[in-house]
Amino acid sequence: MNAAVSALRSQFPLLAAAPGLHYLDSAATAQIHGAALDAVIRHETTCRANVMRGTYALAEAADRAFDAARHSVARFLNAGSAEEIVFTAGATAALNLVAQAFGNTLKAGDRVLISVAEHHSNFVPWQMLRERTGIELALIPVGADGVLDLGRLPELMGSRCRLVAVTQCSNVTGAWSDVAAIVAAARQAGARVLLDGAQAVQHGPQDVRALGVDFYAFSGHKCFGPGGVGVLWGRAQVLAALPPFLGGGGMIGEVTFDNTTWAAPPQRFEAGTPPIAQAIGLAAALDWMMTLDWPQIHAREQRLGELLIEGLQRIPQLRLLGPATADSRAPIVSFDIEGLHPHDICQVLDGRNLALRGGHHCAQPLLAALGVEACTRASIALYNDETDIQALLDGLVEVQRTLT
Ligand code: PLP
Repeated sequence: MNAAVSALRSQFPLLAAAPGLHYLDSAATAQIHGAALDAVIRHETTCRANVMRGTYALAEAADRAFDAARHSVARFLNAGSAEEIVFTAGATAALNLVAQAFGNTLKAGDRVLISVAEHHSNFVPWQMLRERTGIELALIPVGADGVLDLGRLPELMGSRCRLVAVTQCSNVTGAWSDVAAIVAAARQAGARVLLDGAQAVQHGPQDVRALGVDFYAFSGHKCFGPGGVGVLWGRAQVLAALPPFLGGGGMIGEVTFDNTTWAAPPQRFEAGTPPIAQAIGLAAALDWMMTLDWPQIHAREQRLGELLIEGLQRIPQLRLLGPATADSRAPIVSFDIEGLHPHDICQVLDGRNLALRGGHHCAQPLLAALGVEACTRASIALYNDETDIQALLDGLVEVQRTLT
């Protein structure tokens, strides 16, 4: 095994305990880094108390740790301030928060533009909003390679587009969206932009200000942190103008029988007890990510993507989905083998200690556009190396031998 990768793998407790495991499902959930796990345990065993409530020493220590976590996330995203960071239960919760809170500012006939390539988390909430308010929902199409086709963007926005909500990177094809072009067109139309960063964050720190978007959503479990926590970043003045989504403790200014006033963001959007230990664990994961040599990791991830794509292209009856080269996609590679169901493929691979996901990947509109009902997906992260790719290619030889 590659020495750099071996040093990385040893920092992930599950991978360290399972040397023979070829984990190629990081797009679903990345493995948790030891520092994140330690931070959760340290918090729960030394600092556990509710936040923003107590005045005793333990509660104040919990407050400080939670506040520090918000600052770490702000640094990871290059946010304008920590007040722009809203902790949520995950990317899905963050996307629904925008669909509800921003959605409440829309009127019938206003338009939200999404794309065919969205994960259901950035598709269904907008359909629900359409049902509730009568907004129009329009779709950016994809080309045969699954890449967003931005050719008709101004026309698709029309005159009443209020929000463009798109994925930064497809969870099926790995294709990156041309965010700069989308932001430029949205600005022309006076629309806000929500970027679903769920698949981008495990490939390095992000710069929301350089991206130029208004909202950014992601999950902790996809960037080496714990489950049950995610983030919605919102530009300060955009968040300040939004009504709350959930009502409850922590999000109010004052409550009387007749009226309730709202706290300022981010608390306005964090009703109830937040995922405290999980946020602290996520911050530890992001702090660790910010110490890494990302150009080197990207080069390795891309090389592995190329190796996999080249190997897959030699397999008869196999159709590669998404861009044909590794340089225009994150290292997420999905494929279809004629006549074989992805669940059967994944079962044979599982027998060889290969963890891959088969199915519709919560992206049925995209799969329909690509002409498949289901596919098999290999997703590569910083702890993978050539041995994982070779194991997969060898496994697919057995798949063909046993299933055809
Ligand atoms: N968006 C994309 C692109 C995803 O890939 C996923 C999960 O796979 C999500 C959103 C939803 O993330 P979560 O299930 O962590 O809320």
